[in-house]
Amino acid sequence: MLKIFTKKEELKNYRDQIIGSVGLIPTMGNLHEGHLSLLKTSLDQNDNSIITIFVNKTQFGPHEDFDKYPRTFDEDLTKIESIVIGKNKEVIVFHPETADEIYPPGFQTSISIGPLKEILCGQFRPTHFDGVTTVVYKLFTLSRPTRAYFGQKDYQQCIIIKKMIDDLEIPLEMHILPIIRSVSGLALSSRNQYLSSKELNEGLHLIKTLKKCEQLLLQKENYQTFIQKELSQHSEWDYLEIRDGDTLLTLLPTSKKAVILGAFRLGKTRLLDNIVVNLC
Ligand code: AMP
Repeated sequence: MLKIFTKKEELKNYRDQIIGSVGLIPTMGNLHEGHLSLLKTSLDQNDNSIITIFVNKTQFGPHEDFDKYPRTFDEDLTKIESIVIGKNKEVIVFHPETADEIYPPGFQTSISIGPLKEILCGQFRPTHFDGVTTVVYKLFTLSRPTRAYFGQKDYQQCIIIKKMIDDLEIPLEMHILPIIRSVSGLALSSRNQYLSSKELNEGLHLIKTLKKCEQLLLQKENYQTFIQKELSQHSEWDYLEIRDGDTLLTLLPTSKKAVILGAFRLGKTRLLDNIVVNLC
């Protein structure tokens, strides 16, 4: 059964009455198979699922695409319905009618993580992760989930949210699910629709380069030289780095897993992707 709430009071009242487990899937809408994979897993693992659709202004920089971010609620609902149909599970779609539902007048609290928010994407989007952690914390308190689902596609976001959960001892299980890709290999993203077909093709350079790094890493070859050359030859890179997969700090000989992360710009659109490599 599907219920749509546009007010946080509806969500809170409903949550107070829920018996059984609750899965939370925070999204900004314009749903694609990546988002839907999170919902499907939540449906499998929980009695109730709450999918939130909220384009959170505080995680956008002043010159970013908040105004033109695709808002497609009716299509999103149809996609959710097609997954929920036939399943004997409760699904709540929380779609705040205004930003005041999340940030009422006078709101002045921010959840801000330490140095993790300053590296990688944080160098280019200095206020982004404060916006993410604050809204996710708020969605956690409104939904009080048993489990919360995030995509590996936004790897730094996952590590930051995991750190917030650990540091603040938020009582929930965090699940990080694999990246869903197009047939060509591009990680699905709501922002891919900004790209022309030529750019969609050029965007494949991102995953091809990450795979080359993976190969060099696994063969214990000098990936640093390759990365330096790649960065100097292609000005589209915001960054291309290999870090410790658990901490996002420097990769050490003792690291159990590595993550190869890239952000690649095509016009005004930034594509993100990553590959995790188990080292033991
Ligand atoms: P967004 O609507 O972009 O904020 O994304 C909402 C959630 O969906 C986040 O946890 C994302 O990491 C996840 N997500 C986005 N794209 C993908 C993808 N291609 N595969 C898996 N999860 C994804």
